[in-house]
Amino acid sequence: MAPKTVLITGCSSGIGLALAVRLARDKQRRFRVIATMRDTGRSGALAAAAGPALGRTLEIKQLDVCDESSIRACLDSVPGRHIDVLVSNAGVGMAGPLECQSLAAMQNLMDTNFFGLVRLVKEVLPDMKRRRGGHIVVISSIMGLQGIVFNDIYAASKFAVEGFCESLVVQALRFNVAISLVEPGPVTTEFEEKLYEEAKRADYSRTDPETADIFTNLYLRNSRDVFASLGQTPEDIAEHTLRVIE
Ligand code: NDP
Repeated sequence: MAPKTVLITGCSSGIGLALAVRLARDKQRRFRVIATMRDTGRSGALAAAAGPALGRTLEIKQLDVCDESSIRACLDSVPGRHIDVLVSNAGVGMAGPLECQSLAAMQNLMDTNFFGLVRLVKEVLPDMKRRRGGHIVVISSIMGLQGIVFNDIYAASKFAVEGFCESLVVQALRFNVAISLVEPGPVTTEFEEKLYEEAKRADYSRTDPETADIFTNLYLRNSRDVFASLGQTPEDIAEHTLRVIE
């Protein structure tokens, strides 16, 4: 069997990095991994973790899910634009009282988490349909199933992802293209750290003192404890995603 070509977005850290390494180091060499990231200057951690797989079963390419031309350039560099499995993983987070968050940040989140997926699928689906085969695996979130306090915009982006995939699946299956959703709970990656950093910089004067107090003193502190004690590792999610791909 020829190895499957798997393109993954957001491989500079976290789940994307772990999955790229897991697939590229597969003992049976079933995968050829195109590990993409918006800034290849951030490829050091992936290159180090991939070790000898880099240049053999794994290559690193630039791809910004918010930039159509970057998606096209990346796909055009793949022979025959042949992608067997697309893993849409790139994403950003946001948490806090709604009135403390800027509209620009909310729009960036939707543009990355939802329209990033839409841009990718618009580009790869026609090729997969033409070949009558392919698999689109989407890293959603448990918050794509259930909204959680102080995560209004993030949960909305993942609900949008789920609705998009559930609607598309019927049309895609006619052409033997599968669409799968992975819905992790808390995972210990840079994702959560970035949220805490953002939370430190937020302007809580825009909300009432009670809400500010509940978010900063109750939610954030508890959230840290939950991640530390219950969070899965990116490698756990990579292992699960491998099963989905197999
Ligand atoms: P990380 O922050 O470690 O990884 C996110 C990745 O997305 C980074 O590589 C980041 O790149 C990339 N990214 C952000 N914006 C873009 C863009 N415009 N184009 C391309 N890449 C981009 O977090 P995780 O690994 O945890 O997150 C991966 C996915 O898992 C996300 O979709 C997230 O929503 C989901 N998830 C995470 C959970 C968690 O608790 N961590 C729980 C459930 C789901 P850069 O380095 O350039 O910023």
